[in-house]
Amino acid sequence: MKSDILLWGRPRLSHGTTNVAAACNSRFPSHNNCVIDYMGDDAAVVQAARISYGDGTKQVSDDEHLIRYLMRHRHTTPSEMAQIKLHIRIPMDDHRQVIRHRTASVNEYSTRYSDVIKKTRRTRPKQWRLQSQSNKQGSQEGDIVWPEGYEVKQVDGHGVLLHKGRRIMVVEDVATFTPAQYLTRRQATVHLSNSDFYNALREFGIAREQARQNICISTYTEYYWCIDVHNWLHFLKLRLDEHAQWEIRQYAGVMAEIAMNWLPKTWAAFDDYVLNAVTFSLRDQTVLRHMLNGRVDLALEVAKSYGWGKTSRERKEFVKKLATIGGPNPWSRRWAYDQK
Ligand SMILES: Cc1cc2nc3c(=O)[nH]c(=O)nc-3n(C[C@H](O)[C@H](O)[C@H](O)COP(=O)(O)OP(=O)(O)OC[C@H]3O[C@@H](n4cnc5c(N)ncnc54)[C@H](O)[C@@H]3O)c2cc1C
Repeated sequence: MKSDILLWGRPRLSHGTTNVAAACNSRFPSHNNCVIDYMGDDAAVVQAARISYGDGTKQVSDDEHLIRYLMRHRHTTPSEMAQIKLHIRIPMDDHRQVIRHRTASVNEYSTRYSDVIKKTRRTRPKQWRLQSQSNKQGSQEGDIVWPEGYEVKQVDGHGVLLHKGRRIMVVEDVATFTPAQYLTRRQATVHLSNSDFYNALREFGIAREQARQNICISTYTEYYWCIDVHNWLHFLKLRLDEHAQWEIRQYAGVMAEIAMNWLPKTWAAFDDYVLNAVTFSLRDQTVLRHMLNGRVDLALEVAKSYGWGKTSRERKEFVKKLATIGGPNPWSRRWAYDQK
């Protein structure tokens, strides 16, 4: 069983021997992501829980029900009995988010001891995202257009990109050259110039610890990352969420697939009680109760007393939660009308 998981983990992000691996490979330009080791499984979680509940548990509860009970009641220590150690190779940018999870043990590649990893994460033209209009931390899909001052045209028989009248790039096909292609090409030159300068500093004998100061955060780092299942699931809850950055969600997505295979019962309970659970606060419940009693007037009055105006984030999240369970939006005119 142990070797199955290790074998299963390794090719996923490296050589692409399965469909999933191919999909992961296309998302990660990395060769060093894999499961190094793990301890325990669903049975270890159950075993630990049974020591606290005693022999009686066996009769009243099979493994699956026991794990669901533990998850439902946030009885988390049994899931700390299982641990996983991953080898992660990740751009510095995303690494900064992973490292915030203090409950993992980390041993990282040292760029004081060894030269920086030369590889950088390139953003393909179709991967650029716009700044979100509704979430200051987020991004959104949309067409990238030339800002004012940019112009692609033929000059003296050559395709060129001009910025405020100054030639900044030769363009093969004026008709098809897009702003996103420009950004990707420009990114490549930035990466090249960064690594050129790093190499130059090293040629001059400058210490690695100082030469690295000019490297951009698209470069990779790598480390062993060891975490128990309780904290790993907490990590996955936060980093699979739609509010997490797309790039880290790709890493979390692969980890989730590992968890599903390794701990099917624990994963199923987590999926049900945590990942896809909808939680209603006390305030939510008060508004909801009035809605269920057909008192839209009271529901809206109470919501108003909470300061849930049109732009209130809490109100928007409440409406979203209602939509998730197929409920109506109490602020929609149609619903208010139907209630009369
Ligand atoms: C979408 C998103 C946006 C974010 N934006 C920002 C941001 O703008 N700025 C920013 O700085 N961070 C940001 N973060 C990081 C976030 O605040 C957390 O630091 C990070 O997600 C790690 O979570 P954690 O502390 O729960 O995890 P871990 O460090 O793994 O800790 C797990 C749990 O252990 C407990 N714990 C661990 N250490 C302590 C401690 N010292 N004291 C008490 N309890 C502890 C807590 O219960 C904690 O939840 C963001 C995270 C997400 C997911």
